[in-house]
Amino acid sequence: MGHTELINGRIFDIQGFSVHDGPGCRTLIFFKGCSLECAWCSNPEGISRSPEPLYRHSKCTFDGRCVNACPYGAISLSNNGEGDQLTFNRSICVECTSYICSKACLSGALNIGGYTISVEDLYTRIKRDRQFWGDGGGITLTGGEPLIQPEFARDFLKRCYEAYIHTAIETCGNVPWENYKMTLPFIDWIFYDLKTMDESKHHHFTKNHMKQFNHSPVALILENARRIAREFSGRLVFRMPVIPGFNDDNKNIDATAHFIQSTGRNEINILPLHHLGREKYSLLEKKYSMTDLTIPSKDELRKIAHQFSSLGITCYAGSETPF
Ligand code: SF4
Ligand code: SF4
Repeated sequence: MGHTELINGRIFDIQGFSVHDGPGCRTLIFFKGCSLECAWCSNPEGISRSPEPLYRHSKCTFDGRCVNACPYGAISLSNNGEGDQLTFNRSICVECTSYICSKACLSGALNIGGYTISVEDLYTRIKRDRQFWGDGGGITLTGGEPLIQPEFARDFLKRCYEAYIHTAIETCGNVPWENYKMTLPFIDWIFYDLKTMDESKHHHFTKNHMKQFNHSPVALILENARRIAREFSGRLVFRMPVIPGFNDDNKNIDATAHFIQSTGRNEINILPLHHLGREKYSLLEKKYSMTDLTIPSKDELRKIAHQFSSLGITCYAGSETPF
């Protein structure tokens, strides 16, 4: 048995025909688990490393089939006077290996987000898309944070790289340098998130799920960015989600531009906040806290892009990155 056949990883989605996350037409692979948890995240099902129940209340018939099927008693059915209510003890679900609750559900109200897949099975799956990529396309690892599963990411990227498939990753920067070191030789393109230069704002708007390893995500993110800029020979494009009141002020744009200059690279792609992931929070019984934030207008994005340009940084707004 080859080495790659031994590695399994966890993903939660595969999407073909993407034209925004790297050159040409691409297949995106969404890795499960993230070392940060940003308040505006549009893929909240990518935060936990474990597969988890996605429950759609509006489809539920409250027949209790899932309650009876769960071997761990993780679901309870109650009535609070205003109607039936299903409640999950998700700390139990984290340890689950059966996920039998979703198989018992006949109404489509209960699904499991995330699954385990081997490098070989994932490679076989994405190879089917190859005919649609054309000359410039390929695969992009996203998530979640792909490098939170470094061995799986490395072996899968290597498998693609050796088959002359163009490889890209989107990364938040908040992982040990070692995880980059082992994957960089098999990557052609990196989108690297720079959320804010301000440690206290970073702390306020993102949860650091790697506290045991690092207490200062911003310092680690910047240090990894410097090293990638030095050691990675492919294209490195920084990315910044524009979040009003968090990172769109002049001081932060200036600091971000000066940091990029100091790395010797000069490209950033700014992406406006959107609320498209809001509904997924309810499937996870989580609260989406950014509802009241206004989405930045095209003019506001242009103003930020102009500020970056005036400081010598090439800035692409939205989907304008030339690939
Ligand atoms: S995921 Fe597992 S533990 Fe959680 S409700 Fe379903 S069967 Fe029970
Ligand atoms: S099995 Fe499905 S429809 Fe029945 S109570 Fe559970 S989630 Fe609702």
